[in-house]
Amino acid sequence: MAQTILSVSGLSKQYGERRAVDGVSFQVQRGQTVGLLGPNGAGKSTTVSMICGLVRSDGGTVLMDGQPVGEGNNAAKRKIGLVPQDLALYEDLPAIDNLKLFGGLYGLKGAALMQRCHAVLELVRLADRAKDKPSTFSGGMKRRLNIAAALLHDPELLILDEPTVGVDPQSRNAIFDTLETLKAQGRSLIYTSHYMEEVERLADHIVIIDHGKVLADESPAALYARLPAQAALRADLQQPVAPALAEAVARLPGVTRVAVTGQGLDIGLADTAAAPSVLRWLDEQGHKLAHFATARTNLEDIFLTLTGRSLRD
Ligand code: ADP
Repeated sequence: MAQTILSVSGLSKQYGERRAVDGVSFQVQRGQTVGLLGPNGAGKSTTVSMICGLVRSDGGTVLMDGQPVGEGNNAAKRKIGLVPQDLALYEDLPAIDNLKLFGGLYGLKGAALMQRCHAVLELVRLADRAKDKPSTFSGGMKRRLNIAAALLHDPELLILDEPTVGVDPQSRNAIFDTLETLKAQGRSLIYTSHYMEEVERLADHIVIIDHGKVLADESPAALYARLPAQAALRADLQQPVAPALAEAVARLPGVTRVAVTGQGLDIGLADTAAAPSVLRWLDEQGHKLAHFATARTNLEDIFLTLTGRSLRD
């Protein structure tokens, strides 16, 4: 049975006139990966900083395994690992020494500390670079070392704040592999991002946040079910599109909406399987195609449906 590991309730934060976070509530179940999705400035970093007790909230509660995560060090906070956006590494200290230092802050020492340092380096695929200094690392490798540092104390919940921003593709893949391994081990994750493909790939549950408010808190399947169209067909014709044609297409089986743009039709479909019959119908009616493309709708469309705005700037 699902078991709640983190419960966030009515979390708020005001900076001057700006309500950065405005009554955010959501939960994370044990073993679940929650994607916290929203555009830049939505309030994601402030939310996760309050969850970890790094930023004082103006209101609301955070319970980790039923215990409040307050200020200062406490048992509830120890169950959380945070990978912040800002890198905090000693550039001229070998990777392994960076980890020994961070591990020491968590009270790890001796053989147990060394065992954890090597285990986390392995996990982020930096075992062969243990003796090298972060100053010789790419941005992505530094980010991976940061993930390793956040895992040293074996937290039950790992929170990653936009971990792939400014990261090269190779490190991005290594980060995803690491997160997929952690997921398979049953660890709980919160992953903030403004990249819908990343959240789509990893998350079992999605919280969409905008202007400090939660707009959606659902499984990916439930979010997709909210969309009027599950797939889109773009059909460019060799001749201009008459309004009557658009109306006729709108009446075809499986078509949810039709818009005329330029010399083509943007057609919403209940299912991609409806595309061939629409194309066949156009051909039978003597409309010659210049080009066509189909696409599955994605979280970008969901954000657009919810806010009327695009996810990215
Ligand atoms: P996100 O992580 O989604 O990009 P943030 O939580 O960083 O969003 O920011 C939410 C809003 O709060 C933004 O408008 C940002 O400018 C503002 N903000 C964040 N931190 C501070 C701060 N320390 N002082 C003043 N405003 C802040």
